[in-house]
Amino acid sequence: MAVTEKTRVYHNVIGENSVPASTGKTFTVTNPSDTRIELGICQQSNEEDVHAAVAAAKEALPTWREEAAPERGTYILRAAAYIEERSEEYIEQLIKEVGKSYKDAKAEVVRTVRCMRYLAGEAERLKGETVPSWDKEVIGYTKREAIGVVGVITPWNVPLAIAAWKIATALTCGCTVVFKPSSQTPVVSYWLVEAYQAVGLPGGVLNFVTGPGSKVGNALANHPEIKALSFTGSNGVGLAINELIAKRGARFQAEMGGKNPFVVLEDADLELAANHVIAGGFGESGQRCTATSRVIVVKAIADKFIDILVKKVKKLNIGNPLNSDSDMGPVIDKGSMEDILRYIEIAKEEGGELLAGGSQLTEGDHAHGYFVEPTLFRNITPDKTIAQEEIFGPVISIMEADDFDQALEWANQVEYGLSSTIYTNDLERAMKFVNSIEAGFTHVNMPSTYSEPQYPFGGIKDTGVGGFREVGSTAIDFYTEYKTVYIKPHGNK
Ligand code: NAD
Repeated sequence: MAVTEKTRVYHNVIGENSVPASTGKTFTVTNPSDTRIELGICQQSNEEDVHAAVAAAKEALPTWREEAAPERGTYILRAAAYIEERSEEYIEQLIKEVGKSYKDAKAEVVRTVRCMRYLAGEAERLKGETVPSWDKEVIGYTKREAIGVVGVITPWNVPLAIAAWKIATALTCGCTVVFKPSSQTPVVSYWLVEAYQAVGLPGGVLNFVTGPGSKVGNALANHPEIKALSFTGSNGVGLAINELIAKRGARFQAEMGGKNPFVVLEDADLELAANHVIAGGFGESGQRCTATSRVIVVKAIADKFIDILVKKVKKLNIGNPLNSDSDMGPVIDKGSMEDILRYIEIAKEEGGELLAGGSQLTEGDHAHGYFVEPTLFRNITPDKTIAQEEIFGPVISIMEADDFDQALEWANQVEYGLSSTIYTNDLERAMKFVNSIEAGFTHVNMPSTYSEPQYPFGGIKDTGVGGFREVGSTAIDFYTEYKTVYIKPHGNK
């Protein structure tokens, strides 16, 4: 596969400069719908590049931290406007680089802009508190201060919005950043940095280093000047970084995998529920941390519901999402595809009844991409592998529960705790679900993937480490320290 003349080279961004990796090596990013298409050449960096980026971020910190906070917010607002004006270009890049449908790519760009605007506003709300002192002459209050230089490590599946919200929160709080994107989708992540460059963000405030997680990510985790590291990705990697960070006492936030339940009760709107299983489970080819992966339907309506669902799934058109008739695109790479196909085989061996899909598509337009059919299994119980492990692909398990109580018990019977949803018109059971579900966020009659930036986002149980939330008004907690101030205007008499 020859590198074409048109393939753009993306450098690291360190301080004011765009620089190649110190290794002199690069890697090529390709389109998962057609791997013959090259999207960019990125830097294969190592520890040395991370150290240079951290030094640049450290140098930029004092000035940025001392800037009036609302002024910091204006850079974020202008970068958001830059992206919004170029929405169609960002959408097309997400389609090409991640394999998202137009609708899902557009949703990510809209979410990116909304997150940036919301978090820019937090710069005007970096509140402390005033508390009455025992000494009537003392003024006591708290103020928030930036924690320092922070690291941001992001996954490939939401390469723009997740990076945008982590970076915007850090910048709002007065932190400077070293950003390491996923090596599968670094180009659109670079475009986020480019938006900040275009609006004149001072050099060194946001640094960008691409390369393998084992070198670049590891170096960030180990660097003593990285006071906090915000990570989104898999459990294996997140827990390994957690050990490194814990050893040096830095702050860590990890948002990791999900195995999200979708409960359907007797009185649900079955058409709506089926449409939302498809949107939540097969949107973005099931590669979302909030994806619907376990449908738990009560037995009384199971046959009827499954019949509606299967008919809809069989009508889905799988193909390059640049074609407007494609409902679902590829999965991200060969390794992911092989993992997904392996889970499908395990499900069959463990007695799952395959209702739809189950195979890789290899002919015609699918020949050069990583296409897996949207796959539905029935006859799955909570002890089965595909009911427990995160597949991160277009595979949904259907489980048939005796009643609501069993559905709720099964919904909670996993190690993960990110998203969840229930479909019912019974307020009492909906509220019991809301109050009993073990998840960072939940929904009633809405897809498991729904979220807005004004509300905190994050998981419990094995999904989250650190106890911090992203977006929402509490996002600033991770990037700030409190300072307590006592003032006695006339001194101690
Ligand atoms: P991943 O863990 O493989 O990679 C995530 C990031 O970590 C990448 O940038 C990668 O290069 C880096 N990395 C890899 N090894 C590293 C190491 N040893 N040290 C430091 N960094 C390292 O995850 P992925 O495949 O990119 O993303 C998919 C996963 O992300 C899924 O499990 C999904 O559920 C999860 N995810 C979670 C959320 C959430 O908010 N909970 C959102 C999106 C994705």
